[in-house]
Amino acid sequence: MFFFERDITNIKGVGEKRARLFKNLGIEKVGDLLRFYPRSYQDFSDKVNISDSVPGEICCIAAMVMAPVREVMVRRGLTLYKLRVADDTGECEITFFNNKYVGDMLKVGARYLFYGRMGGSLLRREMSSPEFEQNAQFSGLMPVYPSTAGLTPRMIRAAVAQAIFLCDLDEDPLPASLRSRFALCHLRFALENIHFPKTRQDIETARMRLIFEELLALQLGMMMMKNRSRSATSVTCTIAPDFSSFFDQLPFEPTNAQKRAVAQAAEDMRKSTPMNRLIEGDVGSGKTVVAAALCYYAAICGLQSALMAPTEILALQHWRTLTKLLLKSGISVGLLSGGLKPAEKRSIKKMLASRELDVVVGTHALLQEDVGFDSLGLVITDEQHRFGVEQRARLSSKGQNPHVLIMSATPIPRTLGLIIYGDLDISVLDELPLGRQSVKTYLVDSSKRQRIYAFIRQHLDKGFQAYIICPLVEADESGLAAAEDYVDRIAKEAFSGYRVGMLHGRLKAHEKERIMSEFICGALQLLVSTTVVEVGIDVPNAVIMVVENAERFGLSQLHQLRGRVGRSSAQSYCMLISDTGSEETAKRLKIMTETGDGFKIAERDLQLRGPGDFFGHRQHGLPELRIANLTQDMSVLREARECAIGILETDPFLRSPENAGLRMLTARLFSYENVIFN
Ligand code: ADP
Ligand code: MG
Repeated sequence: MFFFERDITNIKGVGEKRARLFKNLGIEKVGDLLRFYPRSYQDFSDKVNISDSVPGEICCIAAMVMAPVREVMVRRGLTLYKLRVADDTGECEITFFNNKYVGDMLKVGARYLFYGRMGGSLLRREMSSPEFEQNAQFSGLMPVYPSTAGLTPRMIRAAVAQAIFLCDLDEDPLPASLRSRFALCHLRFALENIHFPKTRQDIETARMRLIFEELLALQLGMMMMKNRSRSATSVTCTIAPDFSSFFDQLPFEPTNAQKRAVAQAAEDMRKSTPMNRLIEGDVGSGKTVVAAALCYYAAICGLQSALMAPTEILALQHWRTLTKLLLKSGISVGLLSGGLKPAEKRSIKKMLASRELDVVVGTHALLQEDVGFDSLGLVITDEQHRFGVEQRARLSSKGQNPHVLIMSATPIPRTLGLIIYGDLDISVLDELPLGRQSVKTYLVDSSKRQRIYAFIRQHLDKGFQAYIICPLVEADESGLAAAEDYVDRIAKEAFSGYRVGMLHGRLKAHEKERIMSEFICGALQLLVSTTVVEVGIDVPNAVIMVVENAERFGLSQLHQLRGRVGRSSAQSYCMLISDTGSEETAKRLKIMTETGDGFKIAERDLQLRGPGDFFGHRQHGLPELRIANLTQDMSVLREARECAIGILETDPFLRSPENAGLRMLTARLFSYENVIFN
């Protein structure tokens, strides 16, 4: 046990300098090496004769070095090290780049294994930078680790092997009973074989165990957090919900879906356990009104509400909307964002603490320690997938287990939802407000740009507004449209005489706010922007969305962008400009012209980009997993979930000695362990 926590410099061959390189890989202690799993394996067991090797294919050859390494200096900074190797059947030239140390390692007349992609032709075979193994008898799978400059695969392998030797692996954090119930191998077998397997089957056995272990720790941590927030709430709403006066003063008739969601959530808020509800609705389905209605209900019941948005701009917009919607009911709404002056912030905080404010809207600023409430009853997070689980827990911890409402346009697979939100309830806004027309979407190349500009001018002349989105802030070499450069050009040429604003992430908060406000109130007609407008912005008078370099965006992102128009009964348009020559990209973008359904688009996005990207760490805010994959390992996930439920039923805080290992695993996975264990 002792060596787990020791500094990595306790490994032979790892000095201060190498320790720093290991640190780049997130490895500081000896024990970290054990959990530094290989990315893949190279198969050294299947050796081919040189004469049988096929140029273009990966293979392993066993060959003898025929002559000393030749050094060929190509230019400054590029030296090649070439050597000829041979077996009984043929010859091959091997090249290493800038790697002098191989010259010293490979001895003439000795046999080695070389693993890599065969190049050249049948007459003149060659291999570049192959992996090599000194033990020509070696037959097995060689682990391939994520690497960093300065650390060779050989060094990493040697360090891992030592760590396995040094650490006591007999004590398994998974209790024996649990291992036998789920047919999992012992920790020692798992670690030895994930790193140095003999067969593919061994890898599978090891992986199963390690994936299970990781997902179990994940579920235990999430459930413990959930259980904490599931204890009785002191903020039960006692007044019977009646939304008629709120609905009556709206400028529109709420959709049935909105009414249903509001009623379901209000019902939750009357219970003595906190609400835990997700409002899932496509862009433009009107989630903000639902949030406003519930803030209204909370205020009537004497409770404060907090609405957290992912960006400053969105927070500002929500604050405006909520103020407008709640003013007539005499409910006060404050804004707390990073962009405020210190004195303004202080005064908002004071008003929250003294209950002068019923509702506060803000960004992460709401999470700061010194933000306190008098009687926080409802916490709403908008576009929740952008927030970490931890952040949500922190906001909730500011009240006495307040009710929690999450709003999102991103559909979440059920199993994943269960983990992230616990046993959440879902209200779906499956209905768009009356009179909405679908957004006409076109995919064009940049030769159509002038025609698009003319089309935009026509609409601006009629009093409408438009967006143009470009991917970057400043022009760079790649020739991508850049907001700053772009606005210079088009403001001067195509849109002289029109009021054009520019928005990008580098602007100071108050500048962004000013520009956004000008666009919202119509003072600006055209907004050229990077993707900061992506989430949530609501300007119903804007009817054209142009996306430059559309190939740079994912489908879900494009759907979000397109969702910025089509927010009134006027016909809206979305033009995707792309000069991509790639058929695949064109096919992907074409999907946008074929459907407006966010759920279908998310599905396609998932298929095309793969789960890793779609539910990347940033998307769901869960701790980073080392080996498990939330979308591929669904069946293990379900098993681990059942298992975690069972464990916590008898030992809700993992206090029993038998579960000490599980407690440690969970604490290690959640670096913010204090949220779980306190
Ligand atoms: P999202 O679900 O994308 O967050 P918003 O809450 O921003 O959508 O609402 C989109 C637009 O639709 C807003 O301008 C809002 O005022 C308007 N809206 C919301 N509900 C209705 C409704 N029932 N009828 C008409 N317009 C509505
Ligand atoms: Mg929204």
